[in-house]
Amino acid sequence: MKNALNEENLIKKIIKEINKKVTTPIYIMEVCGTHTECIVKYGIKSLISDKVNLISGPGCPVCVSDESFIDEAIFLSKIEDIIICTFGDLMKVRGSKHTLQEAKSKGADIRIIYSPQSCINIAKENKDKKVVFLSVGFETTSPIIASVIKTTKANNINNLFFLTSLKIMEPILKKILGQSESKINGLILPGHVAVIQGSKYFSFIPDEFNMPNAICGFSELDILSGIYTIIQQINKSIPIDTYNLYKRWVKKSGNVKAKELMNEVYTLEDVTWRDIGLVPSSALVINNNFKSMDARKVFNIEHMIFKESEKSVIENKKCICGKIMMGYKSPKECELFSTRCNYENPVGPCMVSREGVCRIAYKGGVI
Ligand code: SF4
Repeated sequence: MKNALNEENLIKKIIKEINKKVTTPIYIMEVCGTHTECIVKYGIKSLISDKVNLISGPGCPVCVSDESFIDEAIFLSKIEDIIICTFGDLMKVRGSKHTLQEAKSKGADIRIIYSPQSCINIAKENKDKKVVFLSVGFETTSPIIASVIKTTKANNINNLFFLTSLKIMEPILKKILGQSESKINGLILPGHVAVIQGSKYFSFIPDEFNMPNAICGFSELDILSGIYTIIQQINKSIPIDTYNLYKRWVKKSGNVKAKELMNEVYTLEDVTWRDIGLVPSSALVINNNFKSMDARKVFNIEHMIFKESEKSVIENKKCICGKIMMGYKSPKECELFSTRCNYENPVGPCMVSREGVCRIAYKGGVI
């Protein structure tokens, strides 16, 4: 009870300080989709000065998976003896023409799973079939999937494969911060990614870009403390540095074992981020030691160019998810928002995923 009261008083104090210290409009990007959800959940925008503009970044892995990834998955789902396993978030995301949900309604065997490990059981129970897991995520999910890939190999499970859309944060943050039109004054850095990569990973942000930042957890106090720390850096009352405000989970070097696991299973490649473009060395792809489980290699789809073989539907092209995730636009600036594009009938991935900024705005968030 005493702790709760202390926290409440601290929150009030920080809000007061934020509102006192901000005199001109500033733009702070929260990189992680979970932070976007929490900012809405705690009503943070209504607690602080409207001079503090919180804008959402590229941290929703479903939203940044390219159309061609969905096309590849639909292509595989049409092969008779293939079972596709996926997280539910991907079902309504449109490829260049179709969604996995539409493919399922036409008879494809597509199963929603809740943890990557459950693919192993599905593969064991269906030895006459080939199981493909759609592996999507950032550094938070990638080590778990790497561990499943290793288990698959160690147990000689030869009917389980992985179609990957795994990405890392550093290259996309460099791309965002390197844009001359960027209006960002500070970054709320993703706590979950920092748990794996460590606070040191983000030192390029002050060193190369002189950009205020803070690694934050996910409570109301965590996020408000992050905003305040960024404002102090903008106002030069503290030096610009990497501020780790999530020390209860984030170590300087991160989770060494998880990073070793990623190094053992993946290699880095260039990849296209949906509606953003090619980002060099930002994809974690399965390396040659585990290539017998890489769905692109096994099913020979590696060199197929899906986007050119199927013309994108016109509405896909009106979707501005990429511009929203780069910090240039807000969902309400999209001409399809809440009319043609809504949660029941989403056009772009930002309206589909739980962490998608358009979906959060549509469901009542102030974005
Ligand atoms: Fe894309 Fe829909 Fe968001 Fe517009 S409202 S940017 S179409 S997801």
